[in-house]
Amino acid sequence: YSEENQRVLEAYEWLTKLYHHLLRYTKDGKEGYNYLSERSIDDEAIDTFQLGFAPNIRDFIVKFLEKKGFNKQLLIKAGFVTLREDNTISDRFQGRVIFPIRNHLGKTVAFGGRAIQEQGPKYLNSPESELFQKGKLLYNFDLAKRHIRKENEAVLFEGYMDVIASYQAGIKNVVATLGTALTESQASLLKRYVNQVIICYDGDAAGQEASYKAANILRKAGCEVKIAYLKDGSDPDSFIKQNGAEAFKSQVLRASDTYMTFYMRYFKKDYNLSLEAERLDYIQKILKELAMVESSLEREYYLQELSKEFSMSLDALKEELEVFRLKNG
Ligand code: ATP
Ligand code: MN
Ligand code: MN
Ligand code: MN
Repeated sequence: YSEENQRVLEAYEWLTKLYHHLLRYTKDGKEGYNYLSERSIDDEAIDTFQLGFAPNIRDFIVKFLEKKGFNKQLLIKAGFVTLREDNTISDRFQGRVIFPIRNHLGKTVAFGGRAIQEQGPKYLNSPESELFQKGKLLYNFDLAKRHIRKENEAVLFEGYMDVIASYQAGIKNVVATLGTALTESQASLLKRYVNQVIICYDGDAAGQEASYKAANILRKAGCEVKIAYLKDGSDPDSFIKQNGAEAFKSQVLRASDTYMTFYMRYFKKDYNLSLEAERLDYIQKILKELAMVESSLEREYYLQELSKEFSMSLDALKEELEVFRLKNG
């Protein structure tokens, strides 16, 4: 780390402790603590993830860090404060629950802040910097990696709350992309530790589309993927809260789909399957993908599924599949 980055890391360490202390032990942090309690996050999880609270005060951090001898330029550069039009500075995070974002060495390099009232953006993150590049780190990777190794499997979520709820429930081989698309760099990071990855994104349309993209990036990196299915409107955190950890394991993680099954479900969205012509187009699309599956056993299996679903003869489907396989060479 450069000398300046050392200072920034030091500031993050101070702030992480301060925000955490406020949340855990003071009246100023009570709002944040109550918010997390309502969301069923317990003290142990609060401590493990060093969750904190930034009080609703304009220059709380400004004053605190200036007193510790951090200069204004550095505070702005690191994104702790924002410069306003009248040339004064104010805290970036006000009235938000703070999620320290740790790099792979366990050092805090950014904050995520969640609004606890319905105003402003729901989440606000620290700006990207030399120390924090969203696309290069995975939330909770430092704590998760030994569990990932042990379980021989990683579970990939969308958000902080999903990771924390899962970890608290005892499922610890979990990481998250922070609301952005999975990058190749994140995929190769996972690949260095594990082959099997379960993608468990939110059950809404955005989550499904992101699952499809993430699955392909992971496959390209050489991982075997499965995709968990959640109902629209549900996410891992809310599922665990409603149904508990055991249900999450058995009904969501263990029940996750293979890539091909996900593919067959996902692309139904593009076709009106009550129309014969579109039904045929859909089947062709699936067969094209299926033609690239190497295992003949698997090909046979999905052909059976298609045959059942569309009441078509297995032979006809097989013949069409062979045409695509020949084209692929
Ligand atoms: P909660 O349960 O608190 O509503 P969530 O994790 O379910 O949060 P999502 O809307 O599903 O929230 O977003 C997933 C992740 O995307 C968040 O954890 C956060 O990291 C990121 N994110 C969401 N909204 C924003 C935003 N406005 N700015 C930056 N990051 C965001
Ligand atoms: Mn979402
Ligand atoms: Mn979500
Ligand atoms: Mn959520």
